[in-house]
Amino acid sequence: MKNHQIDLCGAEGGGRSPDMPILKKGMTFSFQCAGCGGCCRGREDIVLSGYDLYRLSRHLNLPPKLTARAFCRIYIGAVSHLPVLRLAPVKEEHNNCPFLIDNRCAVHDARPLVCALYPLGQEISPTGEVCYYFQSTQCGGQVYRATLADYLTEQEVAEREPLDVRWAQCCMQLEQEASTWENTFHPVVLRRFQSKLCDALYYRYDLSRPWLVQLEENLIWLAREKSRLTEMQQNIYQKK
Ligand code: SF4
Ligand code: SF4
Repeated sequence: MKNHQIDLCGAEGGGRSPDMPILKKGMTFSFQCAGCGGCCRGREDIVLSGYDLYRLSRHLNLPPKLTARAFCRIYIGAVSHLPVLRLAPVKEEHNNCPFLIDNRCAVHDARPLVCALYPLGQEISPTGEVCYYFQSTQCGGQVYRATLADYLTEQEVAEREPLDVRWAQCCMQLEQEASTWENTFHPVVLRRFQSKLCDALYYRYDLSRPWLVQLEENLIWLAREKSRLTEMQQNIYQKK
């Protein structure tokens, strides 16, 4: 896994800029889209949450680790120091998203949050407040007009919002301590711990059980694994 400029919050310098207005629930917005699939081409920044991977894996009927191996890249984020999972564009197909087939999304019902939201973006604060902002598509084609509340319901974003909030808060909490791990752990132990992090956040999920309860279980498991690795490090490296 290598450091990369695209981190858990997307591309460096991404996110909301001043020309992207924040929307309130009852506010109406509109945009045009010709359905050309352009949003799904040449994209390096489709970052998946653990819940996104779980939904994709259920849709594909594949274990999460296999889904990630087949369609994603994973590496340690340069800023967050946490594992970042993103869809891997297909080089031979002009860097298209691996799920873009005949200009359509082959996993539409399980598409990642960023895809379901577009042209909206989402921001979550450490205290769990959520806001949505509008990014102009600059495209022609069919006009779509909706209130924020209707759009979020239609795109099935509203129903998953509590899970996305928990994911964001969990990552923000881990990020606070993550920068110290490089000093705390021997490089060999750090790599082992990073692998446990990948398991806890993305892979250690039974697709027949709800995702959120497993995230909470995995965080407890991760804390135990961290203690075990710390003890192991003391036994191996600090007794010399
Ligand atoms: S928003 Fe624009 S680029 Fe994206 S699919 Fe619609 S027309 Fe194409
Ligand atoms: S998952 Fe679907 S909507 Fe998202 S980039 Fe890929 S093809 Fe497009």
